[in-house]
Amino acid sequence: MNTQQHRPRIAPSPTGYLHLGHAYSVWLTQALAKAMGLEVILRIENIDHTRCKPEYVAAIPEDLATLGFTSTDPIWHQADRFEVYQDALHQLSDFLYPCTCTRADLQDYTSDVYPGLCRHKTMADITPDSPPYALRLNMAKAIQHLKEKGQWPLAFHDAKKGEVPAEPEMHGDVVLARKEFKTSYHLSVVVDDAAQNITHIIRGADLYDMTHIHRLLQALLDLPTPQYIHHGLIAEDGNEKLSKSKASMPLHTLIQNGLDLAPLKAVFDDVQKIQNEPAEAFLKALPTEIAAPLYFKEFA
Ligand SMILES: [Zn+2]
Repeated sequence: MNTQQHRPRIAPSPTGYLHLGHAYSVWLTQALAKAMGLEVILRIENIDHTRCKPEYVAAIPEDLATLGFTSTDPIWHQADRFEVYQDALHQLSDFLYPCTCTRADLQDYTSDVYPGLCRHKTMADITPDSPPYALRLNMAKAIQHLKEKGQWPLAFHDAKKGEVPAEPEMHGDVVLARKEFKTSYHLSVVVDDAAQNITHIIRGADLYDMTHIHRLLQALLDLPTPQYIHHGLIAEDGNEKLSKSKASMPLHTLIQNGLDLAPLKAVFDDVQKIQNEPAEAFLKALPTEIAAPLYFKEFA
């Protein structure tokens, strides 16, 4: 197999230092990639300049090297690619509208799905005096367009769930760009996965629902659809992810405090067992004081 043509990626967001949850994901990605004979590349997803700090960005390759991962490809930084995302937005312009809603405008709506208050607006309604706006995707219009092209319904392949019908409409009119960032996670991840020829996306189950949106964007932008592997998460009592426990401390701090990574990494050595997510073994290999509040939130 040509590893240049088939590959997964590790794509952390530098909104903090890497912690044990990242380590689990990185080792699992590497092990699954190895089992498939694929080479993993690294992409840094730093579009949010209000939360991604330079020191976090700088620490990522270092922390990954500590975990035994180095990228043989040049490392892409999404913050360098706003022009490319701008082109993609331009391609989608028929389906986009500016939304000037504030949090206060939406406070009476209980649903997470945007109620479409600005759906009638066009860019002609935006003047230099307009408040900051977000660009939202008119979901119904986008789906109608694909129906007319004979490209609807859509599906994607998930390793555990098999063929999944895409239901992006459950997310409503999603935001694809904001005034501050001029892109969004959804847009930049879809554009970059295609640009980097990513064939296998291995990521946490917390992003599973987003795949429905990503599949739609791939169709609208005429991009290939990778295969998806969503893994369970190391979580802590009272939180879906790691946020307060020792396990959420920066990896380098845990190592300074004496944590030995070797027995943790060894959990991923047996490629045969990896398919069943070695989270229990991973938690067992941790010192009790770190593992105590943790549990494995399986991908249901
Ligand atoms: Zn609005």
